[in-house]
This record gives sequence, structure tokens and C-alpha cells, in this order.
Amino acid sequence: MSSRELAVLGGKSLFDQPVPVGQLYFPEWEKYETAMRGIFDRQYYTNQGPLVCQLETRLQEFLNVRHAICVTNATIGLMMAADALGLHDKVITPAYTFIATAQSLSWAGVEPLFCDVDPLTHQIEPESVETLLKQYAGEVSGILAVNLWGDACQQVKLEYLAKKYGVKLYFDSAHSFGCEIDENPVGAAGDLEVFSFHATKVLSAAEGGCICTNDDELAAHLRNIRSSYGAGSFRAVLRTSNGRMSEAQAAVALLSLDAFQDIVARNERIFNSYREGLEGIPGLRLITPGAVSKTNYQYVVCDVDETEFGLTRDELQHVLSAENVLARRYFYPGLHRCVPYASQFPDASDRLPVTERLCGRVLQLPIGQVIDESDSREIAMIVRAAFDNAEKIRQKLRVSV
Ligand SMILES: *Cc1c(COP(=O)(O)O)cnc(C)c1O
Repeated sequence: MSSRELAVLGGKSLFDQPVPVGQLYFPEWEKYETAMRGIFDRQYYTNQGPLVCQLETRLQEFLNVRHAICVTNATIGLMMAADALGLHDKVITPAYTFIATAQSLSWAGVEPLFCDVDPLTHQIEPESVETLLKQYAGEVSGILAVNLWGDACQQVKLEYLAKKYGVKLYFDSAHSFGCEIDENPVGAAGDLEVFSFHATKVLSAAEGGCICTNDDELAAHLRNIRSSYGAGSFRAVLRTSNGRMSEAQAAVALLSLDAFQDIVARNERIFNSYREGLEGIPGLRLITPGAVSKTNYQYVVCDVDETEFGLTRDELQHVLSAENVLARRYFYPGLHRCVPYASQFPDASDRLPVTERLCGRVLQLPIGQVIDESDSREIAMIVRAAFDNAEKIRQKLRVSV
């Protein structure tokens, strides 16, 4: 690194092609071809086909949960969940999450009520949840918690609160597939949990997701909401949708599940090489999952403290982008600043001090199949060089803006 100059200061970019942050698992072509041939031979594209059934069985075993209900994507899974749980009025959820978490509530005609998160772990903060439960007593029908960054939120505390105040509790676990808490797989807590199998996630169906629950009645409802016709015994539900997972999606998910241990092991190697490379850089803190006994290492998330690091998060993003490293400001802006919520909760930024601060400081670095350990070592060296050359970079960026 010392031999080459940062691209932002006029050097050559580290990567020739842009390097994205997502997992982007692609199975071996031959295996994919075999799976697709099976679909063609059976002439069965969708509607609870054999591959979807197989995937559901395997997920139930893997996650140690009675029902894994596969769906087109996690967003529709969350929308179906809000409907099946009979949520109404307000549901408490963090503003520091992906927009789909809150949008699923909006689709279900429920108002998201934003709570704050923990400054170190970034997980939903139970005290902030209880404040809202008290303040909006009688109006809150549920808590939609998020398990973030391959880690888990304080589930026991949230379960206690849900019981105490008589509200539903469910989880957006899009970040935490394959994680374990006290050696138990994440997936069976609260009323239900929703996973995403989007291409950027650790288990990929290209697009996809599943809803997990141990509640037989709720599972039956969810299955009927999922399919507007066929597949499964009839249950009267208020609304149906089309959340069916196709056979092609299930085929990719099954191959991804076969490779899952290797995918996580690769992530772990990359994560550890980041950890070594970033260690001791003043003002830069790598978020390390701590509530789980096992993580999926799905995300490399850094908190940038401008005063110590010498550059803002946005300036560091600029430095990386010049190297063709597409680091992402995840989550920026917070949901409390997004349409339509910004106008609904004009005072939200005052009530969410931690969220507000994190949205300006957090940066996600690449991990997954697109890079290897030597790439992550080099990316970490770029970050270190950015710290070493902070003043020079600042001057350069300020002039060019
Ligand atoms: C990816 C993600 C979703 C949405 O998942 P899709 O399968 O793309 O609909 C929801 N919540 C969080 C926290 C996510 O990261």
C-alpha cells in the first residue's frame, strides 16, 4: 500500500470493476443446470412444487422450527405477517433498519412508531420500546423487532415487554439467517420471524424469503394468505395475496443451503482479515456480533468517528469509491427521515438521538462471494491510508466539491 497512492489523491484504483457489498452467491453452473432440468422435466414452475416443499422441510430442520413458509421475498413475508397477526393502530419498530421493515406495516394499514437503538450494537433498544408502550398505551398492537448485522437483539427483554403490555412480538431477521443464540438457531422467537433470501443475503434464492413460526394456527393462516388459490387446506382469511415462491427460486435456495457452511466459513475468513486490518485505527470501530453464540458474518459494518478518524463517514466513502469499492451508507437516511414518515413524525429526530447519530457515521464494507481475504486486507489498508492521509484528502475533497 505504501508503494501506491490512494486513487482519491490521483493514484490508480485498487479494483478494475466496482465491488459491491452484497453476498451474491452463485451456485456452480452444472448444479444449477441440473436443478433447472428437473423443473423442465417435471413441467412444474410454481404453486408449492416439490422443490419448495423440500426447501421448507430442510429449513424447518435447519432452524429447528415447526413451520417455515417460503415466500417470494421478505417484504411480502413481513406484509403477510402484519396481516396474519391482526395488527392495528401502531406497531413499534426501529427507524434504524431497511425501509421494507416499516413499509410492510404501511401496506398493512398500520402506523410504524419508531423507537431508538443501542449505540454500540445498533440493535433495537428495549427501554426505548417500553417508553413508547407506556406513552401510547392502548394504541400499540405489536413490536416488530429487527435482528441486525448477523447479530440478535435482546429477545428475552422484548418477550417480557410483549407479555407485560399484551402486544404481539415478531422479528425481521433478514440479517440473521444461520445465526445461533445460546446454540439455538435464530428463527423461533416471538410470534414469528421473517428471513430474506435476496441475492445480497447469506442464503440466496435470488429473490425469496420465509416466515418461521411454531404456531400451527398462525402458520395455516399465513399459508392461505400466501396463495390466493390452491395448495393447502382452506382457511378463511380476510385478504389473500400472491407470495408464492417459484421452483426456480427454491432450486437456487437449496443449492445455497447445501453450500451454507462454506459460505459462512468464507465470510468468517474475510471478516477476520478485516478485523486484523482495521485494528487500532483511531476513530474506526468494527461492529462485532456479540449477542449470538454463532454469527453468519453477513455484514462488515464500521462506525466512523470523525473527530478521531479525521474524515467523515461520507468522506471515507468517497475515498473507497475512488478505489471502486462500493461501500454503503447503511442505513441512510433513517426511516424517520424518509417519505412518508418524515412528515408524519416531524419531531422524530429529536426522539431518536442514537439513530440520528448512527445514520451519519455507519459504513458497510464488501464481504461475500465477490471478494476474498486478500481483497479485504487491501480494503482495510485503504481505510488505514485514509486515516494516515486524512488532512490531504480533506483538502482535496473540499476543493473538488
Ligand atoms: C433485505 C432486507 C429486507 C427485505 O428483504 P427482501 O427479501 O428483499 O424483500 C427486509 N428487512 C431487512 C432488515 C433487510 O435487510
